Amino acid sequence: MAGSPLVTLNSGQQMPQLGLGVYKVNQDIAVQLVQGALDIGYRRIDTAALYDNEAEVGAAIRKSGLAREEIFVTSKIWNDRHGYHEAKEAIQESVDRLNIGYVDMMLIHWPCPKQDKYVETWRAFEEALETGLVRGIGVSNFHANHLEKLIASANVVPAIDQVELHPQLAQTSLRHFNKQHGIHTEAWAPLGRARFMTHPLLVEIAESVGRSVAQVIIRWHLQLGNLVIPKSSNPHRLAENFNVFDFELTEHQMGLIATLNTETRIATNPDDMN
Ligand code: NAD
Repeated sequence: MAGSPLVTLNSGQQMPQLGLGVYKVNQDIAVQLVQGALDIGYRRIDTAALYDNEAEVGAAIRKSGLAREEIFVTSKIWNDRHGYHEAKEAIQESVDRLNIGYVDMMLIHWPCPKQDKYVETWRAFEEALETGLVRGIGVSNFHANHLEKLIASANVVPAIDQVELHPQLAQTSLRHFNKQHGIHTEAWAPLGRARFMTHPLLVEIAESVGRSVAQVIIRWHLQLGNLVIPKSSNPHRLAENFNVFDFELTEHQMGLIATLNTETRIATNPDDMN
């Protein structure tokens, strides 16, 4: 199967546009799942301290026999580790648990604006970048106003903002803001957690291109320029979700999918997350 296209981040790193997210992948299946994904051709894995499977992700990568530089690993520090000292320790702990040398991308999982510490947290991220513990730093669930505040005092502009993004929540203005600032937008819950699989419009497009609805949605993300990390623990779906590089949606089909956008979230608004 063809490999994912690469995008170049503001950090200078090259990153596969399509990867695998491993939220809610239990430790007992994580090694096998990640190994299976690497066999299919996935070269990017998205984990987090919260997911409690960093050690298993790292073990699968070490076992794969692939060169370290061929794989791009993202992790995230959790909300109870905001603040310079806490974040510094949390980054080191993630790096240790993964045990693959450096980590390619470390993200602040949520801004937690009520704690109001993300500017301080970011100092620890910049330091980890300087010391080579991580090769890239970014954020997750940041609105434009959180990013503006961060960038105002930062030395390094985040490479990525990973946010909830799917056909019902296209994040049009945030994607525009990010683009203007050289930040790549990454889509979490890119399949809307499977809510749209039977939507008549998507089913019709899927039938007309001879693909599944999941493949159509992933293709929509790729053509919009989003980084995308669908999750599946089913080996067939894992392969299906990666088999998206040999067809294209027309502008008309992209426009039809755009009509589904109501800018409504499935999950928590970042302003309400502590
Ligand atoms: P998703 O939109 O990727 O949906 C996953 C679900 O879709 C699966 O559990 C499965 O039920 C279904 N599915 C997958 N492939 C399918 C297929 N081919 N056909 C039919 N159904 C299919 O949602 P997600 O897991 O929440 O998000 C993906 C990744 O994003 C996570 O694993 C995680 O890495 C990341 N994430 C990040 C945050 C954050 O706050 N930064 C939050 C949630 C998720």
